[in-house]
Amino acid sequence: MSYLSHLECSDCRRSFAADQVQKYCFDCQSPLLARYDLETARAHLDRDMVRRRPQGMWRWRELLPVYNPAHILSLGEGDTPLLLLPRLGSELGLERLYLKDESLNPTGSFKARGLSAAVSKARELGIRRVIIPTAGNAGGAMAAYAARGGMEACIFMPKDTPLANVEESRIAGATVILIDGLISEAAGMAGEKARDEGWFDISTFKEPYRAEGKKVMGYELAETFRWELPDVIVYPTGGGTGLVGMWKAFDEMEALGWLENKARPRMVVVQASGCAPVVRAFDAGASFCDFWVGAQTIASGLRVPKSFADYLILKILRDSRGTALAVSDEAILKAQKRLAVAEGIFAAPEGAATLAGLEMLVAQGWVKPDERIVLFNTGLGLKYLQ
Ligand SMILES: *Cc1c(COP(=O)(O)O)cnc(C)c1O
Ligand SMILES: [Zn+2]
Repeated sequence: MSYLSHLECSDCRRSFAADQVQKYCFDCQSPLLARYDLETARAHLDRDMVRRRPQGMWRWRELLPVYNPAHILSLGEGDTPLLLLPRLGSELGLERLYLKDESLNPTGSFKARGLSAAVSKARELGIRRVIIPTAGNAGGAMAAYAARGGMEACIFMPKDTPLANVEESRIAGATVILIDGLISEAAGMAGEKARDEGWFDISTFKEPYRAEGKKVMGYELAETFRWELPDVIVYPTGGGTGLVGMWKAFDEMEALGWLENKARPRMVVVQASGCAPVVRAFDAGASFCDFWVGAQTIASGLRVPKSFADYLILKILRDSRGTALAVSDEAILKAQKRLAVAEGIFAAPEGAATLAGLEMLVAQGWVKPDERIVLFNTGLGLKYLQ
């Protein structure tokens, strides 16, 4: 069923058992990455067979962490459309501009992918109580999948989180605790409650499997582009789960012999100028991010002062010859309107930020007219109405 073989520390490479509950490497304070027996998978798993299965993220189940399919908690996540943006493309002088529309996922954001994987695996391992600190969408998604699995959910959110995230969590039966502070403070409180009361903490990269759900975006892109990869991927980065996940998917597909050529996309991180720790570290040539003090932006999913996977994100930017850009809230709102007027897509501010970033790249001549460029709209604009 699943070829999951073990977990590996992303820093010291130590191996951890995959049939037990794992969090992260306490020695290195680094994320664990799921490893699969790709040699066996290469011999037995056919990419065209995966393609013929019913739609959704779990058609890639051999490369996802759940051993017994009875434990899969799904609400129909994955296989989101890759839309060509012809009108916006011609305005920007780009012939092959695309948008992967993740807002069509359950709960209206791509957090559904990660939480479907992580909550399913937690349940398989016997966990029945899950807790999370969140900027918003991860909480809503966790509440939904926990409900689907008959599990208890507890969510810490900053009190200025979009109302939709509070309500979608509460209606699914989760306990929501609104705090006077940022996601970093929410993380401290959730961690403490987890230790004191025995909840399992599903914070970004503090458990290994959210990135596994998000990596499937990389498989879907490759499949849609006939097993080549696009030239440029523009990703709105908070914790960086999707960026790290997709890069991991590219490594896995290479090991599986599924890619038609070795060319990798240049990965572009877009952050808000009110919270841009990755951009600052990238510009400084640093390997880690400094904590961003006073984080503020309307793009709540990007209000992450420091990612637990900061060095992985920065390494991917360098290895892919990518770049990192900060865009103002004003530019985000303008881009949100432009995307809706030109193409009929009402993106979340985080998704609109990728268009604002692309406008900068076009002005710099960093992208060429015939390159295949993929923007990520990570959430539904409707969720942010107050
Ligand atoms: C969480 C979130 C992001 C950031 O995603 P990461 O993978 O954590 O970097 C971007 N957009 C939206 C809508 C989000 O909810
Ligand atoms: Zn380690």
